[in-house]
Amino acid sequence: MSEPIVSTPSAALTFDPLKVRDDFPILAQKVHGKDLVYLDSAASTQKPQQVISAIAQAYGKEYANVHRGAYYLSEIATTNYESAREKVRAFINARSLSEIVFTKGATEAINLVAATYGRESLKPGDEVVLTQLEHHSNIVPWQLLRDVSGCVLKIVPVACDGSVSIESFAKVIGPKTKIVSIAHVSNVLGTTLPVNEVVQLAHQFGAKVLVDGCQGIVHREVDVRALDCDFYTFSGHKLYGPTGIGVLWARSELLEAMPPYQGGGDMIETVTFDKSVWAEPPAKFEAGTPPIVEAIGLGVALDYLNGLDRAAVKVHETELLTYAMTRLEDVPGLKLIGTASGKVSVQSFVMEGVHPHDLATVLDRFGVSVRAGHHCAQPLMEAFNITATTRASFALYNIKEDVDELIIALSRARELLL
Ligand code: PMP
Repeated sequence: MSEPIVSTPSAALTFDPLKVRDDFPILAQKVHGKDLVYLDSAASTQKPQQVISAIAQAYGKEYANVHRGAYYLSEIATTNYESAREKVRAFINARSLSEIVFTKGATEAINLVAATYGRESLKPGDEVVLTQLEHHSNIVPWQLLRDVSGCVLKIVPVACDGSVSIESFAKVIGPKTKIVSIAHVSNVLGTTLPVNEVVQLAHQFGAKVLVDGCQGIVHREVDVRALDCDFYTFSGHKLYGPTGIGVLWARSELLEAMPPYQGGGDMIETVTFDKSVWAEPPAKFEAGTPPIVEAIGLGVALDYLNGLDRAAVKVHETELLTYAMTRLEDVPGLKLIGTASGKVSVQSFVMEGVHPHDLATVLDRFGVSVRAGHHCAQPLMEAFNITATTRASFALYNIKEDVDELIIALSRARELLL
C-alpha cells in the first residue's frame, strides 16, 4: 500500500513566509515577463505542492469510486475520503463526523440549508436576517426561499468603515426572526463580523444562525462549538485546497430533522417504487458520487495548515494588511473601502477618475493580479454608492515586497490612465 496522504509544509512550525513560498510552485512564474504578484487569494488561494501531489497520488495510485467496491482500490479511496472528513471535523472542532457534509462549495452548502431547513421550517411572515455586506451566495438562496415560503428578508446595514455593529443587529433581530445568515468575514471589506454576539442574540429569540465562513476560516481559527452557531459553511479552494469541494457543518439534530437536498445513490438505506428510506447524515446529503479526490485534497490542505504556526500566520497577515493600508493611503487619489478594526487582509479601494477594471488590467501588465468588480456583492456596492472596487487580498504566502510591487504598479497605472 502507498504512503498515507498526509503532509506537512517544509517550514513546519516556524513560520517563514519566504520558505512557505517555495511550497507554492505557481508563485515562481512570470506573467507578462514580470514576477507574479498574486493578490487575489480572497477569490481563490494558490495550492501548495503537497496538495497538488496528493491529488496526483489519489488519481494516479489510489483511485476508485467510494463506499461501493469490496476491493483494494475502493477501500483505499473510501478510507482516504472518510479520513478527509475526520480532518475537517478536527479542524473546526465539530462534535461528530456525522455533522460534516461535503458539498461542491460554500454556495451549494448555503443553498442546501435554505432549500431543506428553510423550506421545512419557514412560514409566511417569518424573517431571515442578512447583512448588507453578504456575498450573492448568501443572498440569492434566501430570495429563492422567500419566493416559495413567503418569508421576509431583513437587512442589517453596514457602517461607513465597513463594520456591522451588534447594536445594528439588535435593531433587526426579533421574535419573528427564524434564521440569521451572515458572513464570518466580508470578501470585499475584510470586516470580521461579531458572530459570537449575533449567535447569542439570535438564540434568545430561538432563531438559527448560519455563518458563511468562506473568508473567515482562511484567516481565523474556527471552533464551531465555541462559536455556538447552527450551520457553518466554507469552500476548499479558498483554503489552499482544490475547487469543487466545500463543507456544510450543522448540528446533528438539525441534519437529522432536515429533509434530503437531492435524491440519488448513496443517500438512501432502501429504495422501492413506493418509498425510499434515507441514509443517516451525512450520507443523506451526499447524493451521487461525491467529489472524492477534491475532499482528499482538502484534507491535505488542512494538514498543511495544521503544520504551520497559525497564530504566527495571523500576525504575518495582519502586519501585511497594516503595511498595505498605510502604503495605499499615500497613493494620490486612492480611497480605501473597508477600514473596520479587527479586519482581515482583504483591501478594497477606488482610484479617483479610474475605472477599477481598467486599473486591474494595467496592474496585470506589471505582473500584479488583483480583482476588480462588484465581487458578487452588488448590494454592498450600492450601500457605498459605487459600482465596483479594486481589491487586493493577501494570503500566508504574500510578503511586503508584494505590497511594494502593488504600490509601484499603481503609480504607473495612474500615469497611464489619468
Ligand atoms: N461567501 C463568501 C464570503 C465568499 O467570499 C464566497 C466566494 N467568493 C462565497 C460565499 C462563495 O463561495 P464559492 O463560490 O466557493 O461557493
